[in-house]
Amino acid sequence: MPTAPGKATPLSAFDEFNPNSVTISFDGDEITISSTGFPNHTTPYWQETDSLYIEPVVAIAQTPGRMGSHRDRSHTLTVPAAPGLAVRSTATSLGAIGIAVTGVPIFNDSEGPGRPLEEKIAETFDYAGGHVGPSGYHYHSESMDVPENTTLSHDDEKLIGIMADGFLIYGRREMDGSYPSDLDESGGHLGATQHSNGEEFYHYHIVNEYYFGNLIVLFGGDFMGSPNTIL
Ligand SMILES: [Zn+2]
Ligand SMILES: [Zn+2]
Repeated sequence: MPTAPGKATPLSAFDEFNPNSVTISFDGDEITISSTGFPNHTTPYWQETDSLYIEPVVAIAQTPGRMGSHRDRSHTLTVPAAPGLAVRSTATSLGAIGIAVTGVPIFNDSEGPGRPLEEKIAETFDYAGGHVGPSGYHYHSESMDVPENTTLSHDDEKLIGIMADGFLIYGRREMDGSYPSDLDESGGHLGATQHSNGEEFYHYHIVNEYYFGNLIVLFGGDFMGSPNTIL
């Protein structure tokens, strides 16, 4: 799939990643993001003995398994330093489709083959929009506005992470606090962010639309660039 070279991703964005879990390597034309997958925030999905374990705040039910109880899963993603838009978009697949600033993998809006997110599944999400599946802890939805959430984006302009096609994803708002009005069907557009010093580059936003109820998914569209494999 031919990809026209795009603008370089602003490197200061990578300062936002959780250094306890995420290692970033810059190698000329490529950037590699490696993560242990373990977040730097509280969740009921930690083992009860862990210092970051908390009682559920919003989760009504929990998926089986706790962090570290399944096969520990690290993730590595190598992307072009200047990712470009592809001629044709690509549907996302199950599993990790991006890596969040906390180090946690970002999943799409499905919980299995042909199984879009539904109320029963959303009830297992912690305040961070995450739960544990066979491959470990991962996020599907935006974090919630609860006192326990001291770091994660909720209806703001914060950096969420990087997607498999190399494009950064930000919260629902622009850096001036407004909602972007020119997003494509995947939540992307050309613009400046708090990391780019006024330079415009293509990036995604969380789309400011309810999936159902009050659930806002992180990324429910197609990749507008060429996705790289998250190993
Ligand atoms: Zn899931
Ligand atoms: Zn923007």
